[in-house]
Amino acid sequence: MFDSFGRKIEYLRISVTDRCNFRCQYCMPENSKFMAKSKVLDYTEISLLADRFIHHGIKKIRLTGGEPLVRRDIDILIAQLGKHVKSGRLDELTLTTNGSTLHKHSLILVQNGVKRINVSIDSLNPNKFKQITRGGDLNIVLEGIKTAKKLGLEIKINMVALKGQNQDEIIDMAHYCSEHDYGLSLIETMPLGNDILRREDNYIALDTFTAPLTNIYDMEAINYKSSGPAQYHYIKDLNLRLGLITPLSKNFCNDCNRLRITTDGKLYMCLGSDLYIDFKEAIRQGGTKKVDSLLQKALKLKPEKHYFEEQMTDNSQSVSRHMNVTGG
Ligand code: SAM
Ligand code: SF4
Repeated sequence: MFDSFGRKIEYLRISVTDRCNFRCQYCMPENSKFMAKSKVLDYTEISLLADRFIHHGIKKIRLTGGEPLVRRDIDILIAQLGKHVKSGRLDELTLTTNGSTLHKHSLILVQNGVKRINVSIDSLNPNKFKQITRGGDLNIVLEGIKTAKKLGLEIKINMVALKGQNQDEIIDMAHYCSEHDYGLSLIETMPLGNDILRREDNYIALDTFTAPLTNIYDMEAINYKSSGPAQYHYIKDLNLRLGLITPLSKNFCNDCNRLRITTDGKLYMCLGSDLYIDFKEAIRQGGTKKVDSLLQKALKLKPEKHYFEEQMTDNSQSVSRHMNVTGG
């Protein structure tokens, strides 16, 4: 599948729930309201959509949310999608998780063809972690990751760069990942959800954020490519692969290969745009033909780029959805 800017689209992110057991400050408000259950696609509907998208060229699916592993009976969906990995139709099934239930879910992931996962940790200080996530328990997350690793999952830690909050931990985080043989990806905070305050105050470009690390260690750009937007670097002294995700300081829209579907069946062609195509009714009433034709329409409508720079300083322009709705 190609969009109207000639970009090859082969990566689908599925947000399986907008709910979460954490309330990360930069992701969603403390008193978030969640979608009514009647709006949410059931697993048969998600599987049907995934099947059509794979048919048209999607090669990689990432489950996200909200917290994907808190949706009831998520094992069912993981098994349904895992079949496409086993049959070779899909190159990869993976997920982004806050890690809080990995002690329970790692085995089912491994059994269904998931090879690697991203786990979000912004601080290794239990109190700060609790504060940023508004209640998360760091020890449960760290133990869950150990279980996942023991069972054979490759781990990448996602750390959002938060100005004045976690830059002092970048060296500790790099050491932690190096010791445990986890990858590390750093992410610039994006202005999603126009009621989250202090966006501008939170933002720090990764060049600046990584300075404490690069002052001590040599960091070499490498050619490694995952299917996401990270630019990879290698720190030889730590044997650490470091991904830098810089939506603001170094725009990567030119290489965007992604589509995102929300838990209520809206397909967003860009994280930074409110433009969507509703697949819920198509899947409920129109069947596969309607899904196929909407997908062609979506490809034509995929925006060229996001406008996070402008939205960062002007809340009235920013995308109204919070990150837990679209998924990261
Ligand atoms: N709950 C899971 C988790 O936290 O990993 C999956 C969903 S979460 C929305 C996916 C990723 O988006 C996480 O790594 C999170 O830190 C990141 N994220 C959330 N809000 C963000 C924002 N405003 N800017 C940049 N990254 C954000
Ligand atoms: Fe939940 Fe993930 Fe958002 Fe944190 S970043 S509130 S864990 S969805």
